[in-house]
Amino acid sequence: MFLKSEGFASSLSDPTGRYTLQQFCGEAALPYGSAPVSLETFTQYALSFQQHLVPMVEEVLVTMLDRQSNRFELRLATGEEVRATRVVVATGLSHAAYIPSALAELPAELLSHSSNHHDLSKFKGRFVVVIGGGQSALEPAALLNEGQARVSLLIRRSSIE
Ligand SMILES: Cc1cc2nc3c(=O)[nH]c(=O)nc-3n(C[C@H](O)[C@H](O)[C@H](O)COP(=O)(O)OP(=O)(O)OC[C@H]3O[C@@H](n4cnc5c(N)ncnc54)[C@H](O)[C@@H]3O)c2cc1C
Repeated sequence: MFLKSEGFASSLSDPTGRYTLQQFCGEAALPYGSAPVSLETFTQYALSFQQHLVPMVEEVLVTMLDRQSNRFELRLATGEEVRATRVVVATGLSHAAYIPSALAELPAELLSHSSNHHDLSKFKGRFVVVIGGGQSALEPAALLNEGQARVSLLIRRSSIE
């Protein structure tokens, strides 16, 4: 799997602007520039970026965030409770999957959100309707098509960009 963004547009932001994907690929003797960026290369870069610049990572699910008068309280999946005066929430979109209400009652074997899929090979030979005209719809539609599913893409507009 490859990123759609080209190498120059796939660097993570650091205050000095030095820890770019190009620099990482140079140091790791990985190809850069002429080919699409593979998911494997980007993941290695992201982990290296984190280890160099943000080493104080604790991998744990935050299950509760509550604001008290002058501080925040957080509960972690481990049961631990943490207090903080400031919290930055950067949880991405993975908990914000939207299913139109008209479809919400369909059983899970007939309806799923694109964020639930990493391997689309199980749809080979099946009819699949993909709803949406953005990034998260177009990519699965193309991959399903490549994987020999029979795909229809439904969008509201008369054309896609
Ligand atoms: C199919 C697809 C293809 C894409 N391709 C590209 C591309 O080619 N190039 C590009 O630049 N961008 C691409 N993007 C966009 C890019 O992935 C996002 O813009 C980017 O990942 C957003 O980063 P983020 O840190 O905001 O969120 P995320 O990357 O979603 O990170 C959020 C993190 O928060 C963690 N988290 C969530 N809830 C909790 C919790 N309660 N407690 C603890 N941790 C939690 C999650 O586990 C996750 O690690 C693509 C997106 C999609 C969906």
